[in-house]
Amino acid sequence: MFSSWLKVTDKCEICGLDYRFASPDDGPAFFSLCVVAFALLFVIVWLQVAIGLPIGLLFIIAIPLMAVGCILPLRPIKGWLVASQFVNKAIEAGTEQLWTDMHDREDEAGNGRLDP
Ligand SMILES: [Zn+2]
Repeated sequence: MFSSWLKVTDKCEICGLDYRFASPDDGPAFFSLCVVAFALLFVIVWLQVAIGLPIGLLFIIAIPLMAVGCILPLRPIKGWLVASQFVNKAIEAGTEQLWTDMHDREDEAGNGRLDP
């Protein structure tokens, strides 16, 4: 599904599904920040309150923890969002005609459709 860290390929190499519909935009970053960063913030605050680390050491621990903790889940979250787009047939508002035209063209060419 991915051609690089967060770049979605054009087509699935197994079933030929056209991934042009995939546009999770900033969804992965949003969910990573709201879910992971929020939880990690509690861990970092707990570290400070429970142990009382010097502020410099706290930053040395907290900054990499937040960075890695927010970057690592981006790929699985993006995969989940693209899968959700496919399952729920989510398209951008106002592009219904464009999608219909695109799918009609795909059918004429004999390529895969978005319908499961
Ligand atoms: Zn596939």
